[in-house]
Amino acid sequence: MTVVTRFAPSPTGRLHVGNIRTALHNWLLARRSGGRFLLRIDDTDAARSREEHVEAIRADLQWLGLTPEREERQSARFAIYEAAFERLVAAGRLYRCYETAQELELKRKVLLGRGLPPIYDRSALKLTDEDHAAKAAAGEQPHWRFLLDHDTPIEWVDGIRGPQHFDPKQMSDPVVRRADGSWLYMLPSAIDDVDMGVTDVLRGEDHVSNTATQVQMFAALGAQAPRFAHEALLTGTEGKLSKRLGSLGVADLRDSGIEPQALVALLARLGTADPVDASLDAAALAASFDLSRFGRAPARFDEAELERVNAAVVHALPFAEVADRLPGGMGEAAWEAIRPNLNHVGEAAQWWQVVTGPVAGPEFDAETREYLDQAATVAALLDWTTDPWGALTAALKDATGRKGKALFLPLRQALTGMDHGPDMKALLPLIAKDEAVRRLGLDGMR
Ligand code: GLU
Repeated sequence: MTVVTRFAPSPTGRLHVGNIRTALHNWLLARRSGGRFLLRIDDTDAARSREEHVEAIRADLQWLGLTPEREERQSARFAIYEAAFERLVAAGRLYRCYETAQELELKRKVLLGRGLPPIYDRSALKLTDEDHAAKAAAGEQPHWRFLLDHDTPIEWVDGIRGPQHFDPKQMSDPVVRRADGSWLYMLPSAIDDVDMGVTDVLRGEDHVSNTATQVQMFAALGAQAPRFAHEALLTGTEGKLSKRLGSLGVADLRDSGIEPQALVALLARLGTADPVDASLDAAALAASFDLSRFGRAPARFDEAELERVNAAVVHALPFAEVADRLPGGMGEAAWEAIRPNLNHVGEAAQWWQVVTGPVAGPEFDAETREYLDQAATVAALLDWTTDPWGALTAALKDATGRKGKALFLPLRQALTGMDHGPDMKALLPLIAKDEAVRRLGLDGMR
């Protein structure tokens, strides 16, 4: 059976790191077995859903390379929910309730006060047809609850948490539809999962109790439940779900110079004990994606680690992938010379400036000044076409007896204005010969 997964965000805000991890893992799970990955926009809540968020979700997924096979929107599927609703009402699995939020809260408090679990008492089930007629006549609209089957224990083998068992008698019948006719998330989601052939539901562990009720909804819909897996929540380095993490969005990361490959490489492994490998591409990450590697302990998202992975990704980025983000005139050789020194692609500009100049070196002492003048003379006579740095330093070593730092550092300082930086062997050919001679010589430094 083809694996079908889905990412089902509510477009009520931007995607944050936690959502992205869920999207990525669903994508990897599908990719791993040549399956399908769907994007389902959970926009039944018209008041809170925004088109701009839908667009941002699409753009974020595209930037990350997590292209969905298909996109569905819950707001276009109300007729389907209505039909399933009618069937469940006819089958006696949905029932009308009229309690206000205050009444329910009071019931909860009374139960808790008696040391009992705050389970809904099903008193609305006792209402007669006359009661309902009287409510309707008084203009009261019902909300609807799903009648849990108390005689069938709820069980599933969770792909991450292992065997799960819930006693439906210990659960409240969930409200599935509000008095104004609007839907809560649970029932439409189960209807969609059946309708769209979803085989694997992978989501955060905050959904475990929803899954327990949905297991019975699948049965009531006459469908087989998909496989479920619930991931441990994401925490920041402080061990808590920090505010920063909850608001850290794709756009923030992109703007701070994070490459999609870095985010994907890190998030693919987050929650496992497996090492993060920046060199793995999406296909390799998918091939090695394995739910059984994920633990139940909270997964720590460490921005410092993301920066390290990002640097490793940048060091391997081919020119073609970054060309349009580099300063004008900067070619492939320059990119390859400079990229080992970058944490972010955006820093290339500062090294390109070192190539194009002007650069300002330190004040050299008289002896070093003399050495550099000699270097300028040697450089002026060099064949610049093959390894000028090798030729320059070999000639100067012979002529002066200098070696190591005394040989190299003044040259680097005069040529780049810095004490460290890209490999001079790669950098020097990029600096035109005349310019290099000028930087080494007196003229260049004054
Ligand atoms: N819209 C729900 C959410 O964002 C979907 C949960 C799910 O079924 O994956 O929490």
